[in-house]
Amino acid sequence: MKIRNRYAPSPTGLQHIGGVRTALFNYLFAKSQGGTFVLRLEDTDRTRSDSAFVQDLFDTFQWLGFHWDEGPDVGGPYAPYIQSERAALYQKAAQELLDRDKAYYCFCSAERLENLRKERESARSSETGYDKLCRNIPKDAAASRVKAGEPHVIRLKIPLGQTTRFHDRLLGDIEWKNEDVNPDPVLLKSDGFPTYHLANVVDDHYMGITHVLRAQEWLPSTPLHTIIYESFDWEPPEFCHLPMVMGSDGKKLSKRHGATSVDEFRRQGYLPEALLNYTALLGASYEEGKDVYTLEEIVAAFDVDKLNKAPAVFDYKKLAWFNGLYIRAKSDKELAALALPYCEGLIKENSASFVGAMSLIKERISLLSEIPSKIAYLFEEPPLLEPSEFFPKKADLAKTVELLELGKKLIPAASRKSYEEAFFKEEAEKAAALAGVKIGDLMTPLRVAITGARVSPPLLGSLRLLGEEKSMARVEKSLSLLKAALCE
Ligand code: GLU
Repeated sequence: MKIRNRYAPSPTGLQHIGGVRTALFNYLFAKSQGGTFVLRLEDTDRTRSDSAFVQDLFDTFQWLGFHWDEGPDVGGPYAPYIQSERAALYQKAAQELLDRDKAYYCFCSAERLENLRKERESARSSETGYDKLCRNIPKDAAASRVKAGEPHVIRLKIPLGQTTRFHDRLLGDIEWKNEDVNPDPVLLKSDGFPTYHLANVVDDHYMGITHVLRAQEWLPSTPLHTIIYESFDWEPPEFCHLPMVMGSDGKKLSKRHGATSVDEFRRQGYLPEALLNYTALLGASYEEGKDVYTLEEIVAAFDVDKLNKAPAVFDYKKLAWFNGLYIRAKSDKELAALALPYCEGLIKENSASFVGAMSLIKERISLLSEIPSKIAYLFEEPPLLEPSEFFPKKADLAKTVELLELGKKLIPAASRKSYEEAFFKEEAEKAAALAGVKIGDLMTPLRVAITGARVSPPLLGSLRLLGEEKSMARVEKSLSLLKAALCE
């Protein structure tokens, strides 16, 4: 069987990690089986759907770097792939269910339904949903009321006293008593638009979808969908409900836990490779002991039987670890190009020293957004710190001045590009010995003068990038400050 599956988001919000995981698993499954992956926009909720969210969806997957074979932007044999453009099909399908006596017209007003809800509430009744009042209206009578223009919806006739069964690839055989299914839900609204349930089933059928991989939160809808398939006499697709993605507290991942939308992760400076790699592990284990994969490698490793039933916990630290890994795998040039948009205001354009700065900080960051603060001292003069900030451990002001004077002598050689690190160390050792301190203590005042901080990227690399003139000027400035303090 040729596999066809789909990602069917509703454009009512930004693409979030859960949606991307669903899309990715569908993609991986299709690609690993030589199947076709479809994008379908489920925009039946006309008030909440928004074209900005459709744009976000396209941008997100463009950035992530994997794509569907058929969809609204690329077309395909089952176009259109946007539900709002398929209304006639759902109307025809609803009519078919009426003809098969599997659905009926309902004329209950919103007011009646609201009163029903209130009555039940005050009677503390456990009953919910529609009370099936219109189910017993004779067909002819209903048809003439429709003809006369009375507002109506079309409801599904849930078969009474039965049990609905379906098989889930991951969760096994599942059965629900029909009395526990939402009673006679609306299929077609009074404006002729379908509800999610009708449109979803009709499209999966007519688009030849063979496998439905979707989040477990949709599991409660599946008995209803199964009844709809049975009402049409259609073969349902194979279902596979994916484990939920949770925060570390075991609750469904939400804004409370941190970023959830891809847009936010992107702005914070995550790389698409890292997000994809990490997302592919959410609810699946492939090869023992291996968790770093390219997209091609995951396609090769993917197997529905390797999915977990238990929920996946989203670990922000692990994602950051992946990100650091992928950042370090970039060349300095590639990283500079990625970092540029984050450094607006600091530098105007890519330059050799900006590229050079990347090698200094690559090992020390896990997000692109950390870059500007880490390299700012290379492009603008750092703030002059308080004298005490220059002191190495156990050194006083006078000793600090002495050490900085010694450190200054290292600059001319150290700022030459060809100067080897081993020489720099050797010279620094000598100077430290002369002053009777450890090399780290010798470096502290020099580091603070050059970088404006006690902890910084490598000093030799910084001196090289800054060049002799700037480095000297910074040290002189610091020395004046310290000496002035000495005279106080
Ligand atoms: N439109 C639904 C959603 O927003 C699709 C659920 C499904 O995959 O069937 O996720």
